[in-house]
Amino acid sequence: MRKPGIDENNVQMSDVLCDFCTRVWTEDIAMIEGHQGSCICGNCLSLSYADLVLNENDTSPDDWECPMCLEKNADRSAQNRAGEPGWQSPIREEAVACRRCIKLAAGTLHKSPDFAWTKPTQ
Ligand SMILES: [Zn+2]
Ligand SMILES: [Zn+2]
Repeated sequence: MRKPGIDENNVQMSDVLCDFCTRVWTEDIAMIEGHQGSCICGNCLSLSYADLVLNENDTSPDDWECPMCLEKNADRSAQNRAGEPGWQSPIREEAVACRRCIKLAAGTLHKSPDFAWTKPTQ
């Protein structure tokens, strides 16, 4: 996400925060962007991947929208993905990432030559 009140036409790295832990983006942090400026950092991605993908621990509330793909319950139902599990941020409870976005982001970051991030294995 973006800091409030910034110049949207001239977004700097320091204007970008992880939607899930609110840390500021810096050169040494892996960050993956979703829709409308949403972001997940490598740390949150590791946590969510281990929790949700490896341990299948669904922490999503009843009604939620993934900030990365902007899909809500009804959107997931329409694509036969009703009941898709999500990972709720321990810091911002309104930030819940769907499993599809976590897998996509992890796949992208895992392959990225820019960061030493790898998928957690346990
Ligand atoms: Zn984060
Ligand atoms: Zn999503």
